[in-house]
Amino acid sequence: MIRMHSVNKSFGRELVLKSVSCHIERYTPTVLLGPSGAGKSTLLRCINGLVDIDSGQIIVDNIPLPRHPKKLRKFRKSIGMIFQQFNLIKNISVLENVLCGRLAYTPVLSSLLTKFTNPDYEIACYYLAKVGLYDKRYQKAGQLSGGQQQRIAIARALVQQPKILLADEPVASLDPKTATAILDLLTKIHEEEKITLVLTLHAVDLAIKYARKIIGINRGQIIAQYDTDKVNAAEIYSVYDNCDNSDS
Ligand code: ADP
Ligand code: MG
Repeated sequence: MIRMHSVNKSFGRELVLKSVSCHIERYTPTVLLGPSGAGKSTLLRCINGLVDIDSGQIIVDNIPLPRHPKKLRKFRKSIGMIFQQFNLIKNISVLENVLCGRLAYTPVLSSLLTKFTNPDYEIACYYLAKVGLYDKRYQKAGQLSGGQQQRIAIARALVQQPKILLADEPVASLDPKTATAILDLLTKIHEEEKITLVLTLHAVDLAIKYARKIIGINRGQIIAQYDTDKVNAAEIYSVYDNCDNSDS
């Protein structure tokens, strides 16, 4: 589904991704695992063109990632994304936040006036029910708990009807029980909607539990790749323990 060849990316003089080559298979829940500062978010953001790479090649569903802004916008429809801090508009309703995910499909009449159609509302309500928030659709997003806010963000990504869902540290701001509930929900969505799920995580135990493939990253380089059903957890822990954390 996603193929990367010799991807390099620098910020200033810092080489953040160093000749990264990997592939992510369709419908295989994949975790990019590594310590803080390893380059996980940067790598994830390259997949939908949020980060412009310096060199190399990224192919998504057999299409080279376009560079032209108009083509990139169209391409991005098929890739949803959620974030650690949820990135919602807190003072508008849950439903309006979810409808924002339809903007790529919606005629923008002016910068202030966007016309959503009945099917947009139907799709939004369908996914709100799927994440368990239909009853809260008229509440302000900022009034909900962290776990509920991440559910809103998931519904907002799903109304795009993406083939790929990118999740950047989706549970790092949540308590362990809520984190498990969100990762269970993402797994259910991956199964029911046939979406390719790519997550960044820094917790080895969660990566082992939820991924079928783990791509280990340290200092901008891929250091190991595992199929979680073929490797024992101790091996993953030992490689990870030898990573240096640039924040420490
Ligand atoms: P991770 O998600 O694994 O914690 P990141 O991809 O966020 O790592 O960051 C990798 C490195 O790139 C870090 O040193 C970080 O400071 C740097 N970096 C990330 N984004 C930017 C940016 N937009 N501008 C400058 N430096 C950045
Ligand atoms: Mg990150």
